[in-house]
Amino acid sequence: MSEIRYDLIHDDYTLIAPERLHRPDCSKPHNVPMETPKTCPFCEGHEAMTPPEIFALRQNEPNTPGWKTRVVPNLYKAVQIEAPWRSEEVGIFEKWEGFGAHEVIVDTPRHLLRMDAWSEEEFFNWFYTMRVRLNDLKNDLRLVYFSLFKNHGHYGAATQPHPHTQLIALPVVPKRELQMLHHAYDFYRMHGHSLFESLLAQERRSGERIVVENDTFIALCPYASAFAFEVAIFSKEPRPALSDLDDMHLMELGKVLRNVMEALYDQLDDFDFNITINTPPMQKNSVTEDFFDDIPKMWRFGLRIIPRLFRLGGFELGSGMKINPVAPEEAASLLRGSLKENR
Ligand SMILES: [Zn+2]
Repeated sequence: MSEIRYDLIHDDYTLIAPERLHRPDCSKPHNVPMETPKTCPFCEGHEAMTPPEIFALRQNEPNTPGWKTRVVPNLYKAVQIEAPWRSEEVGIFEKWEGFGAHEVIVDTPRHLLRMDAWSEEEFFNWFYTMRVRLNDLKNDLRLVYFSLFKNHGHYGAATQPHPHTQLIALPVVPKRELQMLHHAYDFYRMHGHSLFESLLAQERRSGERIVVENDTFIALCPYASAFAFEVAIFSKEPRPALSDLDDMHLMELGKVLRNVMEALYDQLDDFDFNITINTPPMQKNSVTEDFFDDIPKMWRFGLRIIPRLFRLGGFELGSGMKINPVAPEEAASLLRGSLKENR
């Protein structure tokens, strides 16, 4: 039987509908030509195929082989740092001239097509590099909102198979993000603690949606998961952003994510996905001033793995509400069984 579930974090609803799982899906991606290590711009030795690097984990000359991660401007950027930082009114509309930062993080020199093949060191280096970029970009007071995301595979909207991540920094906070933050702030003011504290306490009491946890992080299938086999990883301590995690935390986070990815690959085989890393606004301005000083108390670092098993249809696009054919309790139970230690 299906259920409409309220999503405490997104202040939204999800329709959990297991029946939908049995629909035939005849759509297969067209044969997209795949870059091979020979032609791949992100492989080691091909540094000249990208714009000059902004940052790299390396001990040698920039733009040469010998790196562990590499950050370059996105060649097809959605926004750019050189654009004027001002909004313009067009009648009743308002627009920004595409100001912002759009960077590509090459996660590893290895042309790995599956994330369960990453080493612990590769997970650590990846998080470390994203933290470096966040800490650098937050010095630009014009940039308020940061989106870190990973597209993998055709349905994950990836155009390059080599493991990479994108960072988009904007002078505005998207409405959905702002709603989520105001919602978290209202909850915090009403209850005197963050909604994440209540949510994690309840999840730990029931345990049925928890996939794996360690001292600092917990991975679970959210109660109102919008996607089948969606997994969220939260910081157990009140740390709001990736930039608030130290090296030890990054190691622990990498271990939990590695466990989750191994279990997801065991369940779903080679699957397409997105990973999003939640970062609260970094600057206090007229839009964020209400809650900005309370972010450390009301917000938690979180990362979401969203398997892209089914495509979105008209209902999802029209209503903004997702239909998820796999109950999160079922997904969590299957993933627990697929953890390496339980296999
Ligand atoms: Zn490559």
